Amino acid sequence: MALAASEAMQLASSVSARDLARHARPGPRYTSYPPATTFSPSFGPDQVRATLAHVREHSPDEPISLYCHIPFCSSLCWYCACNVKVTRERDRGRSYLDALIAELALVGNALGRSQPVAEVALGGGSPNFLTADQHTRLVEAIAENFDLRPGAELGIECDPRDTSRDQVDNLARLGFKRLSVGVQDFAPQVQEAIHRQQSAETTRALVDHARSRGFTSLNIDLVYGLPGQTRDSLRGTLNAVIAMTPQQVALFGYAHLPRRFRHQRLVERKHSVPGPDDRAALFLVARDTFENAGYIQVGLDHFAPPDAPLARAARDGSLWRNFQGYSVKRADNLIGFGASAISSVADAYWQNNPEIPAFAAAVTAGRAAVVRGMQLDRDDRIRRRVIATLMCHAQLDFAEIDAECGIRFEDYFDRELDGLGGPDYAELIEVDFDARRLRTTPLGTYLIRNVCMVFDRHLAGSAGRARFSPTM
Ligand code: SF4
Repeated sequence: MALAASEAMQLASSVSARDLARHARPGPRYTSYPPATTFSPSFGPDQVRATLAHVREHSPDEPISLYCHIPFCSSLCWYCACNVKVTRERDRGRSYLDALIAELALVGNALGRSQPVAEVALGGGSPNFLTADQHTRLVEAIAENFDLRPGAELGIECDPRDTSRDQVDNLARLGFKRLSVGVQDFAPQVQEAIHRQQSAETTRALVDHARSRGFTSLNIDLVYGLPGQTRDSLRGTLNAVIAMTPQQVALFGYAHLPRRFRHQRLVERKHSVPGPDDRAALFLVARDTFENAGYIQVGLDHFAPPDAPLARAARDGSLWRNFQGYSVKRADNLIGFGASAISSVADAYWQNNPEIPAFAAAVTAGRAAVVRGMQLDRDDRIRRRVIATLMCHAQLDFAEIDAECGIRFEDYFDRELDGLGGPDYAELIEVDFDARRLRTTPLGTYLIRNVCMVFDRHLAGSAGRARFSPTM
């Protein structure tokens, strides 16, 4: 949802940290519906083959997005919740790349090698763990197996502590224009708590160099709710980030799940993790700081200047949510490569084996490395449409859903509308049955995941609740 200036001012005055904290509850991030926690091991290589064959037969000319996961990092950040392998053995990148290229060939063959690529994203881990030559090999392999046209958007996540100028120069030569940089927080006490020492100067040097080489889009990731973070320290970080004029900022709430990620226990050695009230107050500080700097909020947790592609997408309805968060929609099908990568193709999702040796063994033997997935049924597709619309636009037009899904909204979601009429949602949404639409209140805009959960058929039985993060 892109907010007009007047709406933003209304939000600023009407939403309090106490209200946000009062409604916060654990829930999925809805980077997909159904969430990955509901995927089943019964979805295997046969189903992947059938899905790719379906795409080859029915939509051979439709653009696709590719995501390549590079799982290596040279040191562990203690807040990390990614699929990551910490190592300083650079050689591991070479054998992993061989496996990645084998998987590209496998999928490229299945799709007929002519599928146009709209977008390539390298994420991790730290994709800069690969050398410049390895980046070149990877892009060449993509071009050999898919139709990689000059207009495709190429993006990469880089760790400023560990990215050389040569790597950036080479990425620019390969056509990369989009740089994503993790900052999280520049305050020394926070950096010490999360075991990530990264100065604003180091970050700025990478950003400036990338821009001088033709990178045009800069995304910066921040985290609120970290131990040691105060409103003042966060303001300092935000001002340093704004000075770098990013086209997009993702502001994630820290999900402290020490039972699942044991290393997260280390973040509490000196400072405790902020509770719901402090966490909500930190978010509001960030929101106000961005809005005062002319940024607008896009979706749940992104900020962008009004003329940036993400803000334009929010206005023209092409804002999309996928496994990486909010993005401009460039293709319906997203294929993930590498250990733990998730694909969303036609009406199926699947995830690769997160264990690097098992992933590599499967793809080098010519088999899909899938370990779980699901085929969406009609009900899943309808609910996916509803939840994606809520996550991107914080409102629903029932007639639009009717037309697209072949239902009558009020009949199909009779129980959900009843539930939304309860006291938990009175402050979050307004349903206008005459106009046939649902809108969020200013408060509900920030708690949209609470509303989405009402439409989530899989929630009660989800085996993965431990991966949920607070809705605020
Ligand atoms: S750089 Fe990112 S992926 Fe790597 S350990 Fe730190 S948070 Fe995790």
